[in-house]
Amino acid sequence: MTDGADRRLAKVAWALLAAVCGTSLAPAQAAQTTRCGREGVVLQVLGSGGPELQDERASSSYLVWSNGVARVLVDSGGGSALRFGQSGATVAGLDVILLTHLHVDHTADLPALVKSSFFEDRSTPLPLYGPGGNAYFPTTTRFVRTLFAAPAGAYRYLDDFVSPAARGQYALESHDLILTGREVRSIFNAHGVRVSATKVVHGVVPAVAYRVDIDGVRIAFSGDTDGNNGNLERLARGVDVMVAHNAVRDGATGVERALHMPPSVIGRIARDAAVKKLILSHRMLRTLGHEAETEASIRVSYAGALAFANDLDCFPVPHAVPVAR
Ligand SMILES: [Zn+2]
Repeated sequence: MTDGADRRLAKVAWALLAAVCGTSLAPAQAAQTTRCGREGVVLQVLGSGGPELQDERASSSYLVWSNGVARVLVDSGGGSALRFGQSGATVAGLDVILLTHLHVDHTADLPALVKSSFFEDRSTPLPLYGPGGNAYFPTTTRFVRTLFAAPAGAYRYLDDFVSPAARGQYALESHDLILTGREVRSIFNAHGVRVSATKVVHGVVPAVAYRVDIDGVRIAFSGDTDGNNGNLERLARGVDVMVAHNAVRDGATGVERALHMPPSVIGRIARDAAVKKLILSHRMLRTLGHEAETEASIRVSYAGALAFANDLDCFPVPHAVPVAR
């Protein structure tokens, strides 16, 4: 029996069990899902927080919707799997998953998403991209196999989701992005979704910033970075939206500054890249409540649109208005 047949058999068994128990398979919260609309491109924030649970926000995660289908998932931090369900998105609808880096607050809910997708009807591979490794972090491929692959993965019972035997059916297809220097690389181009990536600096953590081009609009994701290597502004040049991480205040020093960009740096990058709209996310206890100070610091350099993100926010991304001739 094939893995796919196994999965279908399990679904039938589950349906029978639910029928016997008199329960419904429909999600209890289905009527309360927060959809971003059925037209155009929309950036949705699933997780607007950082690693602290006390910020009462899911950790980093974003969706790019196109005409009512969530096509791209960026990061999958803790708490974001619940937001994914609330958004109305499905794993079956995704074209690609992009991981900016492998910190817990960007990846912890990946197993929950994968397990949930067992109950969907996806029949094609799901590409997943993330950074390469170093002495402190595994490669993305190793990370995924350490989670799911038999015989040694933590969730080895989900080996079906990474097994080469499942190729041609639904399985995660992991890719390591070994980016160097000032390289901006086109890494994905399928079904009208194009993704570019560049290396950014986040302390010793291998880290990547992404740009998603879809339906004529462009959205950049800084991920976590100190903002100092010059790559983010080149990746994000002229984008319609840039999501930047607001994890520290100006004046931050030491490890905080080595890992994150303060608002003054975010503003400079947004100005230099001529970003049309800036969305501040990855909000932490040390930046929450300081929005006026943050905005003032950004406004020293950047005059474009600016918003602070909250979980489940939807930001429509309009096409540029054509110039009348
Ligand atoms: Zn983070």
